[in-house]
Amino acid sequence: MADRSFLSWPFFDDRHREHAERLEAWCREALPVAHGHSTDDVDAATRKLVAMLGEAGWLKPTAVDPANPQPLDVRALCLTRETLARHDGLADFAFAMQGLGTGAISLFGSPEQQQWLAKTRAGQAIAAFALSEPRSGSDVANMEMTAIRDGDHYVLSGEKTWISNGGIADLYCVFARTGEAPGAKGISAFLVPADAPGLTVAERLDVVAPHPLARLAFEDVRVPATAMIGKQGEGFRIAMSVLDVFRSTVGAAALGFARRALDETVARVGSRELFGAPLFDLQLVQGHVAEMALDVDAAALLVYRAAWTKDSGAPRVTREAAMAKLYATDRAQIVIDKAVQLHGGDGVRRGHIVESLYREIRALRIYEGASDVQKVVIARQVMGA
Ligand SMILES: Cc1cc2nc3c(=O)[nH]c(=O)nc-3n(C[C@H](O)[C@H](O)[C@H](O)COP(=O)(O)OP(=O)(O)OC[C@H]3O[C@@H](n4cnc5c(N)ncnc54)[C@H](O)[C@@H]3O)c2cc1C
Repeated sequence: MADRSFLSWPFFDDRHREHAERLEAWCREALPVAHGHSTDDVDAATRKLVAMLGEAGWLKPTAVDPANPQPLDVRALCLTRETLARHDGLADFAFAMQGLGTGAISLFGSPEQQQWLAKTRAGQAIAAFALSEPRSGSDVANMEMTAIRDGDHYVLSGEKTWISNGGIADLYCVFARTGEAPGAKGISAFLVPADAPGLTVAERLDVVAPHPLARLAFEDVRVPATAMIGKQGEGFRIAMSVLDVFRSTVGAAALGFARRALDETVARVGSRELFGAPLFDLQLVQGHVAEMALDVDAAALLVYRAAWTKDSGAPRVTREAAMAKLYATDRAQIVIDKAVQLHGGDGVRRGHIVESLYREIRALRIYEGASDVQKVVIARQVMGA
């Protein structure tokens, strides 16, 4: 049983505590969803998870309710991601992308665009966030994809890559250069339905912890001018505002993986007999367990501090979110590595839970701003630059 004492921390309201307890009970019943590793298997499992999460009402925190608009509840997002990640990495992925893919619509969308949110919150439509390109991953402002105005339309041309849910999404939030200024200032955001003519999946990408992922080609994709999210030239600011909300949730997912690794390790070292006694009796092992627990608690403090700060009305939480994401993902990698080590041969056995956690955690240190980029962000914030 995972440690639940953090729920009594002052960062949470009672509704968060109830949410976490109800979700925990649901996860024990419904997760994990078993699936194979082929693209078809992973696609089908992701679709199933989005539908299950939507039907059970768990996707509601991912987007605003246009009928009753309230700010996104970052603590609910983080608690949900932590809990789902502890039970099933793909369930966390399915949840997270509904939020990241619609974040721009929640924060800046027109009433017409926000009609999509009823479907994404119910698990009846799948969302994706299309920012990265082959030549601009970390260097977002250098993107090349263009959106050229043509009467009442924009024509999108170029490529996006590493797009989670690419291939199964119903709608894409796409960032493209509208060209009014160079660099970060010349970018706008668009809502592009997956069936827009000219939008194709150029390549499916296979990664260590498989989830739907693709490179997308846009060949003269015409969208009405009303597909623009927010104002022309504000795309970079929109993307950063979305990441400001969701970046700490990546830390929360890492925290869920780390907490699961710690739980598995505690069970293992308590039951495994070596040299005539439980493995836990060895003081070096106790040292590892202590360090793992410390990393988990410290990551939780940073993640929920960032979430609470955002929910308390801070316009931006750049520093807090960067610290939460950097620390929680980097330390989860170390916690999980210790879990693998203390499981011995079983730790690297395909299909073992700690083996899958070892694969699940890696990409979190790369996407939504690599660890090195978070360090640059934190240093600039500290220096007031
Ligand atoms: C599994 C997965 C899912 C993804 N999902 C999405 C998605 O849904 N939508 C989307 O738009 N993108 C997505 N991405 C893309 C992701 O955001 C990029 O991979 C990431 O921004 C890094 O870009 P890159 O791969 O081009 O690496 P590069 O930009 O080439 O960077 C390579 C490395 O250089 C280092 N580096 C970069 N900049 C700096 C710096 N300023 N200082 C010091 N070191 C630096 C870092 O170590 C970095 O990892 C996903 C990626 C993965 C792996």
